[in-house]
Amino acid sequence: MDKIVSLAKRRGFVFPSSEIYGGFGGFWDYGPWGVELKNNIKNFWWHEFVHSRDDIFGLDSSIIMNPKIWEASGHTGPGFADPLRECLSCHKRFRGDELSEDKCPVCQGKLSKEKKFNILVKTFIGPIEDETAVAYLRGETAQAIFVNFDNILNTFHPRLPFGIAQIGKAFRNEITPGKFIFRSREFEQMELEYFIYPESDKEQFIYWKEFCLAHLKKLGLKSENLRFYDHPKEKLSHYSKGTTDIEYKFPFGWAEIWGIARRSDFDLKQHSRFSGKDLSFKESDSGEKLLPYVIEPSLGVDRLMFALLSDAYCEEGKRVILKLIPQMAPVKAAVFPLVSNKEVLVKKAREIYSDIKQSLPAVFDGRGNIGKRYYAQDEIGTPWCVTIDYDTLKDDTVTVRNRDTAKQERVDSHKLTGFLKKQLNS
Ligand code: ATP
Repeated sequence: MDKIVSLAKRRGFVFPSSEIYGGFGGFWDYGPWGVELKNNIKNFWWHEFVHSRDDIFGLDSSIIMNPKIWEASGHTGPGFADPLRECLSCHKRFRGDELSEDKCPVCQGKLSKEKKFNILVKTFIGPIEDETAVAYLRGETAQAIFVNFDNILNTFHPRLPFGIAQIGKAFRNEITPGKFIFRSREFEQMELEYFIYPESDKEQFIYWKEFCLAHLKKLGLKSENLRFYDHPKEKLSHYSKGTTDIEYKFPFGWAEIWGIARRSDFDLKQHSRFSGKDLSFKESDSGEKLLPYVIEPSLGVDRLMFALLSDAYCEEGKRVILKLIPQMAPVKAAVFPLVSNKEVLVKKAREIYSDIKQSLPAVFDGRGNIGKRYYAQDEIGTPWCVTIDYDTLKDDTVTVRNRDTAKQERVDSHKLTGFLKKQLNS
């Protein structure tokens, strides 16, 4: 865990938020390579869940919405509250359900009784900060999808089953944020609400569980680090008729990355009741109305990124290698002149670099010795390093070194971008 957190900071993936002011618990900033990795994660999800299908529509809703939405969904009530206990001696706070003993894990002091603590983040909208101006930063992206259900029906006229997908920020005033970016107070979700005929609930649930697991494997996560966990009935959320999590074996143990829930018609029913708008689906042929059931696969971008970093982290002797699949790697190719003090080599390397950069995320590095440059790229997971040497000046070929095998091959510099793209897509 320490090694991954340290690499993430040292190499510009993740920084603690507000660090020069001593940080701010539960918030993180993503540096240059973190942004790239997150974008790769989101783009791949969008490709698989939206672009490659005909039955799923995209959405990008506002973060702050009418506060009645959160009443209807149950989020302002006990369903979205965590059990809070405080140590009466050191005043540290804990989630009651995470404590293994009835005393403070830090100082062994006595603990307060359990209180329910609602984790929606409040704000005020408008110039007067009173009860009537209270609004919430969304606790999940899902509710915005339900309240746009009717808009999608009226503009795209889909048939059942169909889905609406959204990627966006969510906020929760977690009692115990921590474990690096696993549990933070501001994070990103990739959520799909898939609307189905009620009688296909079970079959669709099985389909989406398998679809999601396959997605994680395509990202390169090792099968042995992934498992399903079925929530026992007594632990189900207020909206759920059944939930299975996909858990990942993090350095601190198994924990949820993807929740797949059978939400039944709970949300559409609640929003119909609270808004007064009939949110039923009308069959185009028979005119018959029904409230669809919903399967919801809900995945956290940040947790997935942590899983990818953990899974890819490798040590070979003194070398640290991030064995991300090339599609996820923040940088696809690094370009080096063999030595940095030969103007003619540097110039040629810069030309080749400019060319690659038109089509692929690439970096140029002319500092230090070549071995160190390779190691620096291995640490951020760059799959290919391209070296321009004296032979390049003679025959226009370059050396391409593969991160995982350390094998080198000569490639015609005019065909280099095509070569790299082919490797990337294979
Ligand atoms: P947990 O039990 O760990 O608090 P949850 O069951 O409340 O999670 P969901 O409401 O199902 O989480 O949210 C869906 C997904 O959003 C989770 O699987 C996770 O990947 C992500 N997520 C939820 N809360 C956080 C958080 N505080 N920080 C980062 N990601 C989160």
